[in-house]
Amino acid sequence: MKTGLDFQIVEQLLGGKFGTFDVACPLCGPERRSHVNQERRVLRIWRTSEDFATFRCARCEEEGFVRRERVGAENPPTTNKIIGAARRNSKKEVHDPSRRPATS
Ligand SMILES: [Zn+2]
Repeated sequence: MKTGLDFQIVEQLLGGKFGTFDVACPLCGPERRSHVNQERRVLRIWRTSEDFATFRCARCEEEGFVRRERVGAENPPTTNKIIGAARRNSKKEVHDPSRRPATS
């Protein structure tokens, strides 16, 4: 599905935040004559996860969803999480409290 927005734009608008946001619509805002209308927060974005958001504009009625597009050169956060979890698990084994001497 092709929409007028992409994930990069959403990320720029929200700055990495999660939740529901009302922002100036980058699709229909620029064609407004007055600055007030250009900046009017008519676009509602629901960012449900790091890589996914849905949106709907009350003025141009553009709606849809955007997803982060994985690029090969990028370092996806999910991979880092998996590596981090694996490291934590191996640490946990080393510092197993049941192995600790009673005197410590
Ligand atoms: Zn709009």
